[in-house]
Amino acid sequence: MREPKVVIIGAGMSGICMAAMLTRAGIEDVTVLEKAGDVGGTWRDNHYPGLECDVPSAFYQFTFDRNPTWTRFFSPGPEIHRYFAGTVDRLGLRNKIRFNTEVVRSEFHNGQWQVDTASGDRYQADFLLSATGVLHHPVLPDIPGLDDFAGPRFHTARWDDSVDLKDKRVAVIGTGSTGAQLTVALGGKIKQLDLYQRTPQWVIPLPNWGTDPLTKVLRRFLPLTSAMEYHLVKRGMAFLAEGLTRPGWRRKMWSVTARGNLRTVRDPELRAKLTPDYQPGCKRLVISGKFYRAVQRPGVTVITEGIDHIEPRGIVTKDGVLHETDVLVLATGFDARAYLRPIQLIGPGGLTLDQAWKDGARAYRTVALPGFPNFFMLMGPHSPVGNYSLTAIAEAQAKFALNWIQDWRRGAFSTATPSDHATLLFNKKVQGALPRTVWASGCNSWYLGTNGLPELWPWSPFAHERMLADNHRDEFVLDA
Ligand code: NAP
Repeated sequence: MREPKVVIIGAGMSGICMAAMLTRAGIEDVTVLEKAGDVGGTWRDNHYPGLECDVPSAFYQFTFDRNPTWTRFFSPGPEIHRYFAGTVDRLGLRNKIRFNTEVVRSEFHNGQWQVDTASGDRYQADFLLSATGVLHHPVLPDIPGLDDFAGPRFHTARWDDSVDLKDKRVAVIGTGSTGAQLTVALGGKIKQLDLYQRTPQWVIPLPNWGTDPLTKVLRRFLPLTSAMEYHLVKRGMAFLAEGLTRPGWRRKMWSVTARGNLRTVRDPELRAKLTPDYQPGCKRLVISGKFYRAVQRPGVTVITEGIDHIEPRGIVTKDGVLHETDVLVLATGFDARAYLRPIQLIGPGGLTLDQAWKDGARAYRTVALPGFPNFFMLMGPHSPVGNYSLTAIAEAQAKFALNWIQDWRRGAFSTATPSDHATLLFNKKVQGALPRTVWASGCNSWYLGTNGLPELWPWSPFAHERMLADNHRDEFVLDA
């Protein structure tokens, strides 16, 4: 068998998954290039107060490295980060990772990928795997005067732990999952929290069970292994998530639950402020049993007047009022449509990724790209990242890439590239199915691509797994 050289870009959850699956398959020449000094991607970058995952931990983990001791149903960020770092150590992957090594460019040359780093090093690879994450590039709001603010100011993904918030007036701009979690963590516990809301969110009040007495009793008497828990939650999540991809009673159920939850806000004026004018699920649902309670606490104000500008002392809203603040927190989300950019990717013949994506990001079956041989992406365009566990998606996509690499080892081909035709057909089907998803029902969100349609998987996540279980060899152009 031939031994491939594999380079993976990124040591976040997907990169760890890919490296683990290659290593477990006996492929040893694997190098993971990571621009930061630690593993964990988004779980390394984000450590703001209140951070939790909105996918149950039982299902937000690798099937090949289960953790039977999650402390909560939705575990806190630091615990998840520890778990992924633990996977790296348990599976002996750390020596494959080159930290502080930022990939800036990669070109396919003489049958191999040449991978160039910011420090001027070059790596060669038979296969290049992009695992650069979905929520990686923080978006800073384009608000006049942002740089004039005199106090500490940071994006939630760049949280400054040295700033003590206790006796401070804190302004949080943004009410997505991050803004909501911060509000729960800080509301009522600091001097004043001003939450700047441009668009209200629908909130689903799922409780976050911990190791409370009931769970302990249940665990004692129900002989559930973590593998059984994984599959139970997986089935449950996929079942309920279908409401997001097609109309029907499950979509109604999300709607009734979110609307019922909103009614728990007692003050009609505040309730009106928090009432969205789009369908529940169109933007990512905020999962929180505590958000509405938190915004009703003393010392929490929801400000819906638009922001005019920022000055050294605080935020001036369009009505001319200056809201003085000590700390400015930007919970303004991420550029989820960047994918592996700004890395320059250049295929044989000089085709660049920017050229290939000039009309929007498109992939072959979410994982590969015509014009770019022996290249696979994890969390590529139209992956089911809106309604499923990203660990399960990463495993399905990594397995697809691994199957191709195994064929290469057996000498079946030297380069494999998905055909334009197959990619076109796939994307036509996707575009045709997207309009019936709730994500396309009329709202602005990080799910939307340049054509205004969501860059998400419009069917059941199980269909995505089934699709990737097959190599679809006839849809690839192979060179011997
Ligand atoms: P987000 O959902 O994109 O929310 C960004 C927020 O910032 C929105 O409320 C947006 O308002 C607001 N905003 C952006 N620019 C603004 C501006 N110039 N002026 C005023 N407001 C502005 O980002 P996120 O909350 O960080 O969440 C991103 C994703 O990360 C989530 O959807 C989720 O998938 C994941 N996440 C998950 C968890 C969890 O597991 N519980 C926690 C955090 C994040 P508009 O709505 O008007 O655009």
